[in-house]
Amino acid sequence: MLSAIARVLFSLCVPGSLPLVGLLLYLKTASGPEALSRIVPIYPSAVLVVGFLLAWRFNRSQLVSALFVLTLADRMLLYFSWESGPDPVLGRLVLGATSLLIPINLGIFSMLKERGVFTWRGILRIVLIGAQVPLLAFLLQYNKQVTEALIFHPLVNERFVSWSSLPQSSIALFLTILLLMLFRFIYSRKVTESGFFWALITSFLALHHFRVEHATTAYLATAGLTLIVSVVEMSYFMAYRDELTGLPARRALKEYFLRLGSRYAVAMIDIDYFKKFNDRYGHDVGDQVLRMVASHLARMSGGVKVFRYGGEEFTAVFPNKSVDEAIPHLEGTRKVIETSQFMLRRRLRPRTKPQKIESKGIKKRKTASVTISIGVAGRENGKAAPDAVIKAADKALYRAKRSGRNRVSV
Ligand code: GH3
Ligand code: MG
Ligand code: MG
Repeated sequence: MLSAIARVLFSLCVPGSLPLVGLLLYLKTASGPEALSRIVPIYPSAVLVVGFLLAWRFNRSQLVSALFVLTLADRMLLYFSWESGPDPVLGRLVLGATSLLIPINLGIFSMLKERGVFTWRGILRIVLIGAQVPLLAFLLQYNKQVTEALIFHPLVNERFVSWSSLPQSSIALFLTILLLMLFRFIYSRKVTESGFFWALITSFLALHHFRVEHATTAYLATAGLTLIVSVVEMSYFMAYRDELTGLPARRALKEYFLRLGSRYAVAMIDIDYFKKFNDRYGHDVGDQVLRMVASHLARMSGGVKVFRYGGEEFTAVFPNKSVDEAIPHLEGTRKVIETSQFMLRRRLRPRTKPQKIESKGIKKRKTASVTISIGVAGRENGKAAPDAVIKAADKALYRAKRSGRNRVSV
């Protein structure tokens, strides 16, 4: 339980929080107020260029929208900066309105489905963001007092929020959307969600440090960088992780072998009669079973690393272990899977086309079980190449299948 919480916390903070931590460290170690002015002209432009190129190549409208929001907010705040700007009252109002619009926009874009950059939906999002500027200008022109009263309406006693000059409604909005993003991340574990979570925190700091020269620009650029990092991390994940089971994929196995020492055992694992299982219960149930088998394999003891090799086949690598040392761990997991009953969440796929929907079938909770066959081979004297060891394990798997399945063969 504790390790599960630690894992969630770690994936929330790495790499999401790193750009912000980097900026804070830079501000702490760099001396004097010039620290910010040194990075400000180049940093935001670099973030924008890299971000748009990346969004274009990866077709991420989420990233384009969020970068556009952050840049627009930065430009508006710079233009209306409240002490030196054209009109201090207007400046305060623009700060207030921006501090509401940033969390609303980031909150919405983090939840909207990815729709691609050069699609009509992608372009519509950009138009809707841009339209907020004239809309805000109109509101401020139309009735400054009413807009001010709306934005700065107190929600709680001033004492509780005296640490910030932002409107109370903005602080409440930031907190609410931050919590929503946190729950969404815990539920989905998507790296892009953690990116938005940290981008929102960084944007809040941008507005909070509004009076420090260049601070807003530097923090907003860092929020953009956070989103860029999350897109890069996501593409790494897509290449190296299997989406269905969450296990590392075959590409990761290849790289793992490069780092491995000269002594290890490899097991090839295959689900028995899985084609029949799919035919009987349907592909969706098959997918659920794949996930559950994967989770049992991932919990195997013996310092093993498990990969999804492809289809219903998995590879387990035991570093610094001989075949004999690996077998007890594999046997343990084989038995666990053999005795596990998988709940069938869906109604069984009927063999013949039904005339009417059976409601009884949905309510009844049925169970099913599968078994696995395993072939093991080892590299103990540093002679065979990884491919050859995998081939030997595959041959052993074939022997396990031929001699009756649901067993470990060498
Ligand atoms: P054996 O005991 O000899 O391994 O029999 P088998 O039917 O498991 O062997 P085979 O390799 O012929 O079939 C593998 C089946 O696994 C084919 C395909 O329907 C199923 N399968 C492969 N990948 C997936 C997947 O991602 N999801 C689901 N549901 N099924 C998959
Ligand atoms: Mg197979
Ligand atoms: Mg099989």
